[in-house]
Amino acid sequence: MSFESLGLNAELLRAVSEKGYTTPSPIQQQAIPYVLEGRDIMGAAQTGTGKTAGFTLPLLQRLISEQPAKGQRPVRALILTPTRELAAQVGESVKEYGKHLPLKSAVIFGGVKINPQIEKLRRGVDILIATPGRLLDHVGQKTVNLSKVDILVLDEADRMLDMGFIHDIRKVLAIVPKHKQTLLFSATFSKDIKQLANGLLNSPALVEVAQQNTASEMVTQLVHPVDKSRKRELLSLLVGSNNWKQVLVFTRTKHGANRLTEQLITDGITAAAIHGNKSQAARTKALAGFKANDIRVLVATDIAARGLDIDQLPHVVNFELPNVPEDYVHRIGRTGRAGREGEAMSLVCVDELKLLRDIERLIKREIPKEVVEGFEVDPTIKAEPIQNGRGRGRQQKPSRKPAGKRGPSNSSSARRPSAKSRSNNGGNGDTNGNQKRPQQQQRRTQVRSGNR
Ligand code: AMP
Repeated sequence: MSFESLGLNAELLRAVSEKGYTTPSPIQQQAIPYVLEGRDIMGAAQTGTGKTAGFTLPLLQRLISEQPAKGQRPVRALILTPTRELAAQVGESVKEYGKHLPLKSAVIFGGVKINPQIEKLRRGVDILIATPGRLLDHVGQKTVNLSKVDILVLDEADRMLDMGFIHDIRKVLAIVPKHKQTLLFSATFSKDIKQLANGLLNSPALVEVAQQNTASEMVTQLVHPVDKSRKRELLSLLVGSNNWKQVLVFTRTKHGANRLTEQLITDGITAAAIHGNKSQAARTKALAGFKANDIRVLVATDIAARGLDIDQLPHVVNFELPNVPEDYVHRIGRTGRAGREGEAMSLVCVDELKLLRDIERLIKREIPKEVVEGFEVDPTIKAEPIQNGRGRGRQQKPSRKPAGKRGPSNSSSARRPSAKSRSNNGGNGDTNGNQKRPQQQQRRTQVRSGNR
């Protein structure tokens, strides 16, 4: 299957070939023809599957084939995303795929000045990529007109609901025209998503990648059992002895991300934190430094990392396991993207053994355990309840801060696991006596995360 056979026009084919893509990904093969036909779509696809091009390419083609009256440039396509980073990345994709077309786009999100956005909107844009909160600020100030929206995209709808944006989404839906094409993408289809889709989509085409976890198929997964107090030391050792140049590390809380970053810097490893309390400028700078290989370790919380498109990211480390097993799949989806191999390591202490079991149940695989010599688990340490910081509840709505001050929801807010104390005899994990120094680590058995 080629991009040509999907019916895309010459300008789009040129942009695609300049990106170096030769074959459409499964989600692109399915979605592009439906979107070109004008059908609504319910797409089960997560980041890493190529879904952005899957909706952006046909969306651009539809816009270009139905040009508005001369001299007018109303917003005709609206793409809603949960986070600023994802909005920026989708905005980049729209620009790149549409670079040979006379269409204009703008990205609007909170945390940055609103005036340049107002100015841009005033000059006219065809495609608007926005996070819900800032979009509503513009609606409130009457600096955006959504009455001519023909195509609405809800990207990562599950995450938008997780972040408490349902009311904002409903407000936007009440403003845009009833008659339009709607494309809804979500990694999971919970009851809430189905409810949203039912009221919104008109006989949608179901688009699904055969294996939801294709992005993580190429990921080698490994657990290093370790005491909580020694995780930082082990991480520094792994980064240093393996000479990792670019590693994305996940913590559960923003505070934890800051603390770990400081400790890594003390250990002589260049590191930066990326989370919802950081200014947009600081986040952009950290990401740019990481992409340019000036920063070896980027420490992120789940929501901040969601949607980050970093090419060829070879290593992901779960410094702490996520409370929600699905987040593990999202996290390791940061590596092994677009057919490349990657490695995901989890540093797991006795407190997290239940979380680990939940993850293994979800991915239907047992993750190999390997104790690093010198970091054997102390069997006398008893499990303690996991502290999640002082974040908002995951299901709660983010507070409505004034324009320009709104940040994404706190990633430290996932459901609290049962505080039941656990026996620590599993703390050594399934080590199989397989103790190795990091330097000696060989290629490991590849673990496929499989269907779920
Ligand atoms: P997405 O799931 O949209 O975030 O895309 C994941 C990654 O795959 C991005 O780095 C894209 O640039 C890349 N990508 C998208 N479509 C293709 C394709 N057909 N061939 C190769 N890479 C692609």
